[in-house]
Amino acid sequence: MSNLKYCQGTKCHTYYTQDRLKGTKGNKTNQTRRRSSFYYGNDNFCSLNCQNDWFNDFGDNAINHFGRLHEPKHLTEDNAWVKDYNYNWNDGTQSNWRSVNKITKEQRPLTEEQYNNKEYTLNT
Ligand SMILES: [Zn+2]
Repeated sequence: MSNLKYCQGTKCHTYYTQDRLKGTKGNKTNQTRRRSSFYYGNDNFCSLNCQNDWFNDFGDNAINHFGRLHEPKHLTEDNAWVKDYNYNWNDGTQSNWRSVNKITKEQRPLTEEQYNNKEYTLNT
């Protein structure tokens, strides 16, 4: 049973904290943090520091790999759709999933599945 994963921070092991100190007595080393989930960087980093370390080391390569912008994007009616829903703080339920056009303010209903589907969008 090990769905533990390692923080992807390139310098995580260099930060001295008690929870990073692992190993048998006399043989302890400072190690990369390992947990079932992380709060930062889409569940990949134990801290903002570790996320920043990774980006400082690899961010330029990642941007170049996935496509660097060389001209501005323009917000138009065709790409101004964002997803929204209502959240009931009393009972924790969600309802009224919808696409909202940030320019025209038009709203179109969504199913919960469409809301959760990252591929689904009205943007063209
Ligand atoms: Zn870390």
